This record gives sequence, structure tokens and C-alpha cells, in this order.
Amino acid sequence: MAINVLRVGFDMMKHSIAGLMDEAPDSDTLQMIRAVISENATGAIEAHDIRVRTAGSLSFIEFHLVVPGAMSVSNSHEICDKVEHALRRHIGRAIIHIHVEPEEKAKQTGIPVLA
Ligand SMILES: [Zn+2]
Repeated sequence: MAINVLRVGFDMMKHSIAGLMDEAPDSDTLQMIRAVISENATGAIEAHDIRVRTAGSLSFIEFHLVVPGAMSVSNSHEICDKVEHALRRHIGRAIIHIHVEPEEKAKQTGIPVLA
């Protein structure tokens, strides 16, 4: 009896939490995000380790952006701002973290940035 009550309580909790928990986006959304990064990061070299989660209408986007090693902080920051604005224009509310790396760290598996 006590165990049943616990189980019902747990199932209800699981159900109500599921709507709040973050989920992986569908492949179209991921593809769109990769394209937006690629088209708006002019001056950068590539992006890799792109991770996207969504919770309701909010998206969490994280990725590494490889830039020329000699690029100034101001310039790389400007690229980040541009990409962030473009991503928000396309997907709405988003928390975006971009980790900037010098080109020595480029991965061959990254998505190239369109010049
Ligand atoms: Zn990296």
C-alpha cells in the first residue's frame, strides 16, 4: 500500500517533470543551426563540438569557434555577437555559449565557416 502510493507519486512527478526537461532537437533544427553558424561566422575558420538542447521554447546552444590565432579579442567577440544574433533571429530565445579557440586547435570534423 505504502509502496503503491510512493509509486503513483513518483509516476506523477516524472510526468510533470518531463515537460520541463531538456531534449535533443530534431535533425532539421540541428542542420539549420549548423547552417546559421556557418553563414554568419565570417572571419572564423570552423565550428565544432556543437551541442544543442531545448527546454520548452528556450534553446541552449554551445559550440567551439576556431579563429585565426592572431585575431584580436575584439574581432572574435564581434563574430560571436553576430552569430548569436543570427541564431536568435532563427530560433528565438536561446542561451548561447561560444568557446573561441585559435586555429591550431581546429578539428577536421568541424563545420567550415563560409567565407
Ligand atoms: Zn574545441
